[in-house]
Amino acid sequence: MTVDTKYIFVTGGVVSSLGKGIISSSLANLLIARGYRVTIQKFDPYINIDPGTLNPYEHGECYVTVDGHEADLDLGHYERFTNIQTTRANNVTTGRIYQSVIDKERRGDYLGKTVQIVPHITDEIKRNVKQLGKTGNFDFVITEIGGVVGDIESLPFLEAVRQLRWELGRNSLVIHLTYVPYIAAAKELKTKPTQHSVKKLQELGIQPDILVLRTERDITPEARRKIALFCNVAPDAAVQSIDVPTIYQVPIKMHEQHLDDLVLRLTDTPSKGEPHMGPWLRFLDKLAHAEKPVTIGLVGKYVELQDAYKSINESLFQAATYDDRRLDLRFIHSEKLNDANADELLSPLDGVIIAPGFGQRGIEGKFVALKWCREHDVPTFGICLGMQCMVIEYARNVLGLAEANSTEMNPTTPHNVIDLMEEQKSISNMGGTMRLGAYDCELTPDSIAAKAYGTTHVSERHRHRFEFNEDYRERFEQAGMKCVGENPATHLVEVVEIPGKRWFVGTQYHPEYTSTVLNPNPLFTSFISAAIKYREEKEAAKS
Ligand code: GLN
Repeated sequence: MTVDTKYIFVTGGVVSSLGKGIISSSLANLLIARGYRVTIQKFDPYINIDPGTLNPYEHGECYVTVDGHEADLDLGHYERFTNIQTTRANNVTTGRIYQSVIDKERRGDYLGKTVQIVPHITDEIKRNVKQLGKTGNFDFVITEIGGVVGDIESLPFLEAVRQLRWELGRNSLVIHLTYVPYIAAAKELKTKPTQHSVKKLQELGIQPDILVLRTERDITPEARRKIALFCNVAPDAAVQSIDVPTIYQVPIKMHEQHLDDLVLRLTDTPSKGEPHMGPWLRFLDKLAHAEKPVTIGLVGKYVELQDAYKSINESLFQAATYDDRRLDLRFIHSEKLNDANADELLSPLDGVIIAPGFGQRGIEGKFVALKWCREHDVPTFGICLGMQCMVIEYARNVLGLAEANSTEMNPTTPHNVIDLMEEQKSISNMGGTMRLGAYDCELTPDSIAAKAYGTTHVSERHRHRFEFNEDYRERFEQAGMKCVGENPATHLVEVVEIPGKRWFVGTQYHPEYTSTVLNPNPLFTSFISAAIKYREEKEAAKS
């Protein structure tokens, strides 16, 4: 018997940044723990085709899926919470929808018809919503609608949700996430913004089935009944989501509030019993007991914005937690780091990450950090641009090539140790044209990287245009920096390291995209172990 896929829509009201991605991820986590097959997709109401061309200051980190889609950072949450890979189909923007409709119009698919928002744009949205469900691989497709109800941009998406709700009946439901603010002067939680936001949704023809109420204080049962009454939801369907110290507790909180039970009941889905949360709870238990810190510095230029390095932060956090440590993460602004303050800023650290990035700004600070860390033998991890900087710093200060650079920073450098790949040279479009997505990598046996992974064959995700220049490989290897990972097909260098150091590894790929709570990336766990060991050595030397 084929079971119908159930579609769950998650909308947001009152204010943005309430954490629709975390609620969607937590619900998926619970349903998976109950034995269902679940995927989550994000619809973003902006015109960009994808977030790949967005400045991190605008939209935080750009996440990369295994099939090479430059995606919204919420897809990172989805993967970290569910341990399931997402793809291009899991992230759709208004731009993609319009592009597809306009392509069809040019091909003549709508010949004779006036192409309109309703039905053509909404049909295209609906087609994208159902695309994952149609594969037959999922019992539940959770669709998060970006933005806030009332935005002009999200109107076509909400109209598509209204139509789908009507078509799918009890095979679908709408969860609306709102905010219940606490007004200190009145010493009261206020339910009015939620009522207004639900009214707004109702004006668009959508009746939410479940309300998730973000709050800093416990909402009394009486207030919840009041909200349920005013908003036309079942009395137990006004679920509170109180602030918790870590997002990874949200699934547990949502289960306590019966969110997963409600979803099963309202979609007529037979229950398979309580969720199996064992490994997740073990992670939370470790987190609760991790008191001793491990201090990691992240050297990058977007340090004012936490979300710019989201996946790296989370990967470090997961690795530290599994090693029973509290992550003490310090952001070090690469533009402010120089030889005069390097000692002061870097000596308290047990390990240093040199961040990915683009362009010249802040690059000199990365070289300062790398030289200092190499000379002081601090565990150091260079990721993408961080790896490229590792190579450049080594060329300048060890190989004696003072003007070595990447052609990204200086197109006429006499020593282009990092250079544009041949196939990139003819590309002029910026969007979606980098080396993107998962590529195989063969590791040298006995390298730090191979030991960390416990295998010599890995696959990791990329997002870059520039590469290690093979012409210099021999000189690096002779001087002591080894190329220990390469792509089996193209022989591009993917991993460099300096053997004999405590832990000095650079990866051209981004291992942070594959690190999940239940399956942390081995390079991060290995790096954190090295940092802890180094800390203990420093402590022993002091006493
Ligand atoms: N700017 C570098 C390149 O394009 C590195 C990119 C990155 O760090 N993601 O190769």
